[in-house]
Amino acid sequence: MADYRNLIGGRLVPAADGRTMDSVNPATGEAWATVPASGPRDADAAVEAARRAFPRWSAMPALGRAHLLRRVAAVFTEHADELARLETRDNGRILRDTLHKDLPGMAHLWQLAAGQCLDAVKGGTVILGPDTLGLTRREPYGVALCVIPWNSPVSTFSAKAAYALAAGNTVIVKPAEQASVSVLRLGELLAEVLPPGVLNIVSGLGEEVGDALVRHRGVHKISLTGSTDTARVITRASADALKPMTFELGGKSPNIVFPDADLDAATQGVTVNSVYTGNAGQVCVAGSRILLHRSIWDEMLERIEHAAAGLVLDDPLDPGTTMGPIVSQGQYERVTSYLDLAEKEGARLVFGGRRGAEVVPRLPGGYWVAPTLYATSDNRLRVCQEEIFGPVAVAIPFESDEEALSVANDSPYGLAAGVWTRDLGRAHRFVRDLQTGTVWVNTFRQMPPGLPFGGVKDSGYGHDAVLEYTREKAAVIQI
Ligand code: NAD
Repeated sequence: MADYRNLIGGRLVPAADGRTMDSVNPATGEAWATVPASGPRDADAAVEAARRAFPRWSAMPALGRAHLLRRVAAVFTEHADELARLETRDNGRILRDTLHKDLPGMAHLWQLAAGQCLDAVKGGTVILGPDTLGLTRREPYGVALCVIPWNSPVSTFSAKAAYALAAGNTVIVKPAEQASVSVLRLGELLAEVLPPGVLNIVSGLGEEVGDALVRHRGVHKISLTGSTDTARVITRASADALKPMTFELGGKSPNIVFPDADLDAATQGVTVNSVYTGNAGQVCVAGSRILLHRSIWDEMLERIEHAAAGLVLDDPLDPGTTMGPIVSQGQYERVTSYLDLAEKEGARLVFGGRRGAEVVPRLPGGYWVAPTLYATSDNRLRVCQEEIFGPVAVAIPFESDEEALSVANDSPYGLAAGVWTRDLGRAHRFVRDLQTGTVWVNTFRQMPPGLPFGGVKDSGYGHDAVLEYTREKAAVIQI
């Protein structure tokens, strides 16, 4: 089995007490790699390494940091094939997505972050009077902790670490226990590019090394992409030290289709671009509530079923596969428990509902759930309110714009929403009135790096961008 190490202070090291965890290929259910099961001693070592590296890294001229971040971008291009295959094997996200979307996108993102090193150190001047000058300067926080989930490790790693480093912070990344391999391999590659201690990567359980890092007084800023429950735990654990946080959390996003929309585009937008994705709907912005105007209800249910029937569920490393497995046994149990719940709550099964070996008999050990759609007019059901994080959607009918808006906003989450209409006025009203961090009109799941991406309500606050990793200081100068 392949064996991966932490990156601490420029060295590739096992966990201090030698403990490891298995990484499981979700398409087969077989362990294929081991990664460190780090604990508090590893957290201490990573913080110490990051602390030592901070003065030189933060004092480096912005152009020097930019030069190194461009070299990091080149690593994503040079090792795209290897990294994409590792990630696909580790978390089941199809190779088509990891190789052709994620890795090229990440090379661009690191380039973009390199270009923002100067923005991070820009300040302002305020003329307060003829003899009095106000100045502001932006400063990095110090040691930034980036806690990432398993569904897109390389992408989430990049979205946080690139901006935190551009701003002059040193960084510790804690990948998710279900899928750490691609990020640990990146650690091996980036150890050759970045000075020791500037980037540190420590794998292990959230409640062990994650908790130790969150509580550590030497960590000055925390950014989590993960679940709302974890955000609450982290907030409580770090309350004494009052650490600034960025939280990109879960969602239950509405995807709303009006009869005047281009229904071909809308069908794609509510299915393969949304909840029946390459990683089986394990996408924070999945439009898992599909709101359909009554006049197109039957037609759209047929269209959605037809689109889902065209998906190829198989080994995610196979280039012909269009939907992969659920990431782990634990997540599989969670997703399938919602299939049982939907039945209990009285939602009507439109299609799908199959699970396990009957979905992909060729890979009986994999964690498979077929694309599934329920229909209900009761948005208060738990399957309409709770994030399932799998290829399971609920269709809900509506009669009017007001009803669509009210159902869409009736959610604890507020990550994203989609609106499909040719009516410009309606599109703008929904952009204004939907309580979400992002609204897509006649498109879905476009997340270009130049735009802020974050949520409201239980979906979090803040977003990964270079200024999010800086704080502003003021000075008044009497001349
Ligand atoms: P999770 O919250 O269980 O874990 C996320 C990370 O937090 C992991 O690295 C985990 O080890 C760590 N963690 C857990 N407990 C911790 C603790 N006590 N202290 C420190 N770290 C801890 O989430 P998950 O199941 O890995 O990922 C799925 C969730 O992430 C979903 O809710 C999904 O919507 C969300 N997500 C959000 C976005 C976004 O950008 N908004 C993107 C992807 C995923």
